[in-house]
Amino acid sequence: SDAKVSEMLARIKADNVKFVRLQFNDILGIPKNVAIPVIQVEKALTEGIWIDGSSIEGFARIDESDMILKPDMDTYQILPWRPADKRVARFICDVYTYGNKPFEGDPRSVLKKNLDEAAKLGYTFNCGPELEFFVFKRDANGQATTEFVDHGGYFDLAPSDAAEDLRREIVLALTEMGFEIEASHHEVADSQHEIDFKYGEALSVADKVITFKFAAKTLALMNGMHATFMAKPIGRINGTGMHTHGSLSKDGKNVFFDPNAENQLSDVMLYYIGGLMKHAKALARLGNPTINSYKRLVPGYEAPVYITWSAANRSAMIRVPAARGNSTRAELRSPDPTCNPYLLFAGMIAAGLDGIKNKILPPPATDVNIYHLSDEERKKRGIEMLPGSLIEANDELLKDKVICDALGPHIVENLTKIAIAENDEFRLTVHPWEIERYINNF
Ligand code: GLU
Ligand code: MG
Ligand code: MG
Repeated sequence: SDAKVSEMLARIKADNVKFVRLQFNDILGIPKNVAIPVIQVEKALTEGIWIDGSSIEGFARIDESDMILKPDMDTYQILPWRPADKRVARFICDVYTYGNKPFEGDPRSVLKKNLDEAAKLGYTFNCGPELEFFVFKRDANGQATTEFVDHGGYFDLAPSDAAEDLRREIVLALTEMGFEIEASHHEVADSQHEIDFKYGEALSVADKVITFKFAAKTLALMNGMHATFMAKPIGRINGTGMHTHGSLSKDGKNVFFDPNAENQLSDVMLYYIGGLMKHAKALARLGNPTINSYKRLVPGYEAPVYITWSAANRSAMIRVPAARGNSTRAELRSPDPTCNPYLLFAGMIAAGLDGIKNKILPPPATDVNIYHLSDEERKKRGIEMLPGSLIEANDELLKDKVICDALGPHIVENLTKIAIAENDEFRLTVHPWEIERYINNF
């Protein structure tokens, strides 16, 4: 409304903003932006700003590439690391086609569409992702390496934790950008960290995941280090996950909690879990979107391999944390932070709603360490595995009508193109492991 725009313009003026970045996301979840001087902001807020979408990954064909960015005023934030006397602010935008319709290749719009489906049933989808990342040294030319900056372990304190100051800077910057940070700590692996923020409604949390990665990378760079969210930067030590806690609420009440049910877990929650498990293989394409993602999904490093759920065991793909009441939730442990959070959350809610609508009960919980079961015992229990590669995951996506419908044909087509291109590129390269392995023996 006009009043909202005037209020926004007044705030931008009071904040002494000189430049505004209009941010949006490509299909990989990589933020893009156009900077406009503050004089253009009124136009951006009322009419939107035209961009050429033709060279953006997973966007338009060349003949219909003119698109409009429409800033979402709720996403206004100052970038705290930019100079205070020449303030830079940003908006996250929705992308519209030249026909002024939400663009079907805009991941944010895909998530909104799926959240609307949940809203039709009265549900709000809440997400709480746990973001892990490695911090590495840069070499003399400023290029990222895989050299550790510290040798700390789980919950270690300084002085072993050299990235402690960086972590604090990230926490402070995110707090200024409206995050409620719950905890930050050293993770299990050398040079690996985690910062957790409060869960919230899925759209704003997906926006926060993008902001988080971009803030962490920027602040690491400013401190001469490199932050990476790739799933498995180093073999044979823990990889990097993005465990995503999920719950549904209706009229402000968590509907996963039922004080009278077994374990106090409601039927709706069991159906949600049933839906996630049914669609787990296709969801891997969204939660684990790189070739490297599948090097994390191996036994022994706290990442899941089997499609199971458990009220306790951390080897399961879905874990139900002990908290009840309004905190009752299911933690999906398979995704990693290379994912596009908009597409992942869209897929999760579509899978969950399929479970709820069709009353899909999950198989019995697996409350033992799955890695201690023999193949035969696993088979007897009907326990299946997550896909072993990006191509396998993409094939599973193509077989899954519910998830394909949730994403729409434009996104599915482009995800498929990308999976095939990535796989071809990988196969065109001979990797150091192959030389080491074969050059002398054969
Ligand atoms: N880094 C582990 C992973 O890949 C998770 C460790 C944890 O439980 O926080 O998923
Ligand atoms: Mg962790
Ligand atoms: Mg966790």
